[in-house]
This record gives sequence, C-alpha cells and structure tokens, in this order.
Amino acid sequence: MKGNKEIDAIKFKEGELVAEVEELCGENLFACYQCGTCSAGCPFIDDMDLGPDEVIRYVILDRKEVLNSNTIWMCASCYTCAERCPRDLNITKIMEALRQIILRKKIDRTKIVKISKKEKETIPQLAFVSLFRKNIG
Ligand code: SF4
Ligand code: SF4
Repeated sequence: MKGNKEIDAIKFKEGELVAEVEELCGENLFACYQCGTCSAGCPFIDDMDLGPDEVIRYVILDRKEVLNSNTIWMCASCYTCAERCPRDLNITKIMEALRQIILRKKIDRTKIVKISKKEKETIPQLAFVSLFRKNIG
C-alpha cells in the first residue's frame, strides 16, 4: 500500500479507529470471523490491494495503514459481500465509513485540478458526478 502523507498524519488513540468506523457504519466489526466469503465474491478483488476481509482485520488490529489501501476506493458499493456475509455484516457500509474518515479530514481522493482537458471532454458528466460524490468530501 502506497503511503499518503496527509493520511499518515491522521492520529488515532488505541482502539479509536475501530470505534470510529463502528460509529459511522453501525456495524460490529468484531462479529467478523474471517471466513473470506466477502473477498471470494467481490467483483473488484483483482484490483484491490487488500481483500475486504483483510480490511476488516486491519481495522480490528488498529492498523491505520488500512486507510492507504486502494480497496476502500475500488469498492463499487455493489452489496454482494453484504448479501453473502454469514455474520450479516454490511461490509459496503464499512468501506463507506473508512472513506468518510478520510474525506472528513478534508483529504480528497480525486484532485480536480489533475483531471486533464481530454478527460473533461470525453468522460460523461454523470461519471464525474458519481466520482465527486464518492471521492470528494
Ligand atoms: S464474509 Fe463476513 S464474516 Fe466472512 S470475512 Fe467477510 S465480513 Fe467477515
Ligand atoms: S460492496 Fe465493495 S467490497 Fe463488497 S463485493 Fe461490492 S465492490 Fe466488493
């Protein structure tokens, strides 16, 4: 996972990361028994640097480098994992909570100034709206 200085600067006390995620998503991450079903069925797993099950494990273990994982941004909120989780965990909401932790610190995932003229001219406006809603706080 490639580090990001702004994200690395976010400070958490012991246990604070999991507490914040749980507060934002309303899920009990400790219910996860690491069966891997979520990762096995995720349509974007090949593009993720951590499987959804690993993301949960990192959060539980207070490993805040999870915030540098591309998985939370690659997640397309398709709910496949949430539908299949034997522990009834809504992993989609967990991913959103992790994104919110970053965006609420005013750290945007997408830098608008870096979007090229060609991209602005060729990418559909609807795609931009979806991208900005997800990646900009
Ligand atoms: S499917 Fe549910 S219980 Fe299994 S690893 Fe994923 S979150 Fe944990
Ligand atoms: S909601 Fe996200 S993590 Fe879950 S299966 Fe879909 S893309 Fe993968």
